[in-house]
Amino acid sequence: MSENFAMTIDGAAVDAPATFGVINPATGEVAERAPDASREQLDTAMAAAQSAYAEWRRDESARRKALLAAADVMFARSEEIGRILTLEQGKPLGDATMEVVGAGVWLKYFAELDLPREVIQDDDNAVVEVVRRPMGVVAAITPWNYPLLLAVWKIAPALLAGNTMVLKPSPFTPLSSLKLGEVLREVLPPGVLNVVTGGDELGAWMTGHDVPRKISFTGSVATGKRVAAAAAPDLKRVTLELGGNDPAILLDDADPAAVAPKLFGGAFQNNGQVCSAIKRVYVPEALYGDVVDALAEQAKAAKVGNGLEEGVQYGPINNKPQYERVSELVADALAGGARAAAGGKPIDGPGYFFEPTILADIADGARIVDEEQFGPALPIIKYTDLDEALARANGTHFGLSGSVWSADADRAADVAGRLECGTAWVNTHLALAPHQPFGGFKWSGVGVENGPWGLYGFTEMQVIHRSKH
Ligand code: NAD
Repeated sequence: MSENFAMTIDGAAVDAPATFGVINPATGEVAERAPDASREQLDTAMAAAQSAYAEWRRDESARRKALLAAADVMFARSEEIGRILTLEQGKPLGDATMEVVGAGVWLKYFAELDLPREVIQDDDNAVVEVVRRPMGVVAAITPWNYPLLLAVWKIAPALLAGNTMVLKPSPFTPLSSLKLGEVLREVLPPGVLNVVTGGDELGAWMTGHDVPRKISFTGSVATGKRVAAAAAPDLKRVTLELGGNDPAILLDDADPAAVAPKLFGGAFQNNGQVCSAIKRVYVPEALYGDVVDALAEQAKAAKVGNGLEEGVQYGPINNKPQYERVSELVADALAGGARAAAGGKPIDGPGYFFEPTILADIADGARIVDEEQFGPALPIIKYTDLDEALARANGTHFGLSGSVWSADADRAADVAGRLECGTAWVNTHLALAPHQPFGGFKWSGVGVENGPWGLYGFTEMQVIHRSKH
């Protein structure tokens, strides 16, 4: 594959004065080049979004039609865009294609979502309505794990509400977003969605730029704090979707054989590179050996390889720094006395492949338990007292999601309600949907995405008060 990946600015394909290499994580080699936007090009994109806003905010039904058309483009071109996603991200082609289809599902959901106009008083004194107004230009910044879906989680509600956007994907995965900008030129008026690419610095330019009124950011806690600080002087609104260290807690009546495949899926989806993947599992002492063995069996059976090959379930880790981080956290755990019940090391050969790893005989305090590993390695921790397990699960700055597993769903739901996190699942994990708000407590985020609540995050609330006197 070699094609020209151009930015989208004011409805046109735009190259940059410089380019940067995009690495295929399955080979470790540069696969394509992406434009490295100049500061002037960012200014042009912001100005284009600003000027498109005047018209775009006016016609809600035109916006809905455009978003439905955008959904159709996603469905029609899912495999073509999916291939680009696999090339730069590493995930298996089937998963990449499903990510593009998912983007279509989200576009369609928002295209049909009501923008409420609520009458909160209608009496002899006044009619008072609460309406939602767009904010203006949104700066959207995304990470490398689900580049396309997470971009659409922002694009669909922001555009429906009447905003326009400048989107910047991660430098590790710019190609699918560049392609998205290209294919949506067919259905969106010029300037409504601009896609620019470059390094981390480009993100900082965006958050410090005069034009955007809102920053919608998905990425790490460390960068999220920088984004919040950059937004503060101009009081730009922010939504921050940040990292997680999701606990899964098994209760004493859980069946190890039945839950192991689901736990494994919740931890290793996208090779563990999911903000809300299971990142630590708490197991009652009596079940511990069986759960470790059942998870190790899953890990040993998992097929890892180049995402373009048939039958591959898990691709490489997306990028070298992340590969080195996962390697370091696993090595640290093993040096500290943990046991690799499966995996435990990188896979020889080119690319950033790592064995699906289950770590046993490990406890809180180990770095891989306390930090976000964001990769294919899962620590399994023993507990004797449920209250203590809950305290450990909650004893973190993170609060994205978590899950509780039991034969008794009501009992599990009670325990789940005690987890300090944005989504608490029972007997499942990673069940996400367009109508379900998603966000984090504590350092895992500010605000939510999805559902009407996510849509409201791209609006200002306005009161229209009509006096009757
Ligand atoms: P990252 O924070 O390194 O980068 C995210 C984006 O921010 C990239 O586009 C990057 O170029 C940009 N960026 C970097 N420095 C910036 C700055 N100073 N100002 C503005 N933008 C800047 O994160 P990552 O490594 O790409 O992604 C992994 C992290 O994202 C993990 O912590 C994961 O949990 C989190 N994540 C969260 C969610 C969620 O919805 N909560 C979803 C996916 C990933």
